[in-house]
Amino acid sequence: MMVRENLNTVQEKIRRACERAGRPPEDVTLIAVSKTKPVEMIQEAYEAGIRDFGENKVQELMDKIPQLPSDIRWHMIGHLQRNKVKYLVGKAAMIHSVDSLRLAEEISREAVKQNTVVKILIEVNVAGEESKFGVSPDETETLVREAAALPGIEVCGLMTIAPLAENPEDSRIFFRTLKKLSVDIERKNIDNVHMVCLSMGMTGDYETACEEGATFVRVGTGIFGERSWEIQ
Ligand SMILES: *Cc1c(COP(=O)(O)O)cnc(C)c1O
Repeated sequence: MMVRENLNTVQEKIRRACERAGRPPEDVTLIAVSKTKPVEMIQEAYEAGIRDFGENKVQELMDKIPQLPSDIRWHMIGHLQRNKVKYLVGKAAMIHSVDSLRLAEEISREAVKQNTVVKILIEVNVAGEESKFGVSPDETETLVREAAALPGIEVCGLMTIAPLAENPEDSRIFFRTLKKLSVDIERKNIDNVHMVCLSMGMTGDYETACEEGATFVRVGTGIFGERSWEIQ
């Protein structure tokens, strides 16, 4: 019950934010971030029409996949260790958190082995926070070029996590910066690079992200409620 109502609220807010920005609401895909939440709640969101779910741990994702419908698109949004890549390739619809060439190389190796192509986003630490993963804006184009040159990888865009803030307006500058970076890189017409995805905005700031051009928003708490425990 609660999940369905929350979803309605979030989807309505996305629609209104898109309207304010003159964007078609279909341009934004809502990813329901289900980390730490039981499969029953995911099933509820699925029944309400959600097909995109986000998880931040490979083990948890592997446990959940066989218990849920096979047409779910699973998004890996958390920091990824290279030794876990082999479990993820072929399972995740997209990996949002690629932040090093070594990780991209590992994904490429595994993708080639499985004869598949993995869609990835480059995670950018726009605010330069010590505590966050991601490349700096200055390093982004280089990593995009290097990753795009690897077989078995399709670079689809950029992802960021804005600094924790009370006011969603505080996130705007970081979202705007990511969007600009994406447009600048797209203009370079790099082979095998299509900067079509911008993954930005969480429960606290997804409306602002929609206004600033997000194509994926990642909402957990706003759909499933507070998480009782969390390991980063
Ligand atoms: C947990 C998480 C989210 C969702 O956070 P909420 O504030 O609960 O919406 C989004 N993105 C990433 C990368 C996360 O780890």
